[in-house]
Amino acid sequence: MTQAPADKRAKPAHPPQTRFPVVDNTLQVGGEPVTALAERADGRAFYAYDGALMRERVAALRAVLPAGVELHYAMKANPMPAVVNHMASLTDGLDVASARELAIALASGTDPLDISFAGPGKSDEDLAAAVAAGVIIILESPTELERVAALAAHAAVDPRVAVRVNPDFELKASGMKMGGGPKPFGIDAEQVPDVLARIGDLPLEFRGLHIFSGSQNLRPEALVEAHDRTVELALRLAAAAPVPVRWVNIGGGLGVPYFPGEQPLDLGPVMANLARRVEELRAALPSAAIVMELGRYLVAEAGIYVARVTDRKVSRGQVFLVTNGGLHHHLALSGNFGQIIRKNYPVCIGNRVESGDRESVTIVGPLCTPMDLLAERMELPRADIGDLVVVFQSGAYGFSASPHGFLSHPEPLEFFLPG
Ligand SMILES: *Cc1c(COP(=O)(O)O)cnc(C)c1O
Repeated sequence: MTQAPADKRAKPAHPPQTRFPVVDNTLQVGGEPVTALAERADGRAFYAYDGALMRERVAALRAVLPAGVELHYAMKANPMPAVVNHMASLTDGLDVASARELAIALASGTDPLDISFAGPGKSDEDLAAAVAAGVIIILESPTELERVAALAAHAAVDPRVAVRVNPDFELKASGMKMGGGPKPFGIDAEQVPDVLARIGDLPLEFRGLHIFSGSQNLRPEALVEAHDRTVELALRLAAAAPVPVRWVNIGGGLGVPYFPGEQPLDLGPVMANLARRVEELRAALPSAAIVMELGRYLVAEAGIYVARVTDRKVSRGQVFLVTNGGLHHHLALSGNFGQIIRKNYPVCIGNRVESGDRESVTIVGPLCTPMDLLAERMELPRADIGDLVVVFQSGAYGFSASPHGFLSHPEPLEFFLPG
């Protein structure tokens, strides 16, 4: 945890990490000292997810979400089955992106009509599983529409479909842009009326529209604009629907602060505007459920990643801590998951959180590549072999978004602590 230096021109700092309590100078997660978890991990690096923090996050969001907006969990952020079961109990539905995620979602007991399956390039097996389960298939292309329709003949119920729209705008200043311009995701807004007409001619149960314009956004004004344009587009396209629209997924995009200088998203203006837009949607499409789908916003801040220091060395004046964790466990931490320039995640030494004896350190993993960085020149309490490096904001796009096979070191473990 970097303290803001007194110097006014000082480098921007991370916001203080206050979610995980500190007892006896040791970070606690889910009521357990991180040192006890490290013992259970028996020398392996690990992730730990705190279910109570997820519950708090969902409750805080629901307190400001306009009435009647359903909250879905996008499983790709963290598909650990224990996390998915927990999120299924807290939210109104799940968004999946593969047959394996679908199986985990169904095993959580979630109603198939509260599960949607998105993603370009669904395989025949993916589509068959989705049709058999009766979940909402988010159509990503005209070809996929015909492939789903071909499965209808053997299906107990008409396949349920929604159209993913590639909007004619994009969520500005997003971590990852996923709409606007030419995109592999969804069907261009201009083509959607023809696709909707075709759906009306086929044995399909049309549910509605999915408009996802981006993710990891920390700027309220960008989200306000995206919601305005999403609702406008949904209303325009709904006029061409073969039957009344029953489902409008307005996407998500709420970001979390990872890097120095970033602040938590101010939901006030976003939700005030969304409340007005939702009223318009309700008035025009009274039979439509309105869904917001979020991944990282619900789980990122409830998770930590922990690696153990295995060596300490000084190279030409720079202190290096070598650990048993790194980019093969946590690609985003190393700066290689969509970031343009690498910045440090918030980090602490889990078994000596506060210490007067501080130093500037660079923390690396065991891989023979300069990309294997956990922290670069960070001010931290002096740490030694055996100490625990804790990385905050690690509950999303961590374990499952990392190349575990690279250099064939042991995989990290995952602990879910229900709290
Ligand atoms: C990845 C993805 C999400 C989740 O994004 P987050 O930034 O984790 O909230 C939601 N919807 C779709 C369609 C996605 O592809």
